Amino acid sequence: MKTRRIRTKPCHACKRAHDALFRARPDGGDPWQFYCRACLLKLKASSRSYTYGGTWKSKKRT
Ligand SMILES: [Zn+2]
Repeated sequence: MKTRRIRTKPCHACKRAHDALFRARPDGGDPWQFYCRACLLKLKASSRSYTYGGTWKSKKRT
């Protein structure tokens, strides 16, 4: 049985659900958080120590 669910994650900063997010750590020692593109760009601009950890997408393979 396969149920198709639309899986989204909320952005850590703006709390909106997105189907594609970017994994990043604001500071080196923080746990991974998910950010939407807009918030990731803000984070990039404001934090020098942030770490980029890849992309998360709700759709894996089609
Ligand atoms: Zn956001």
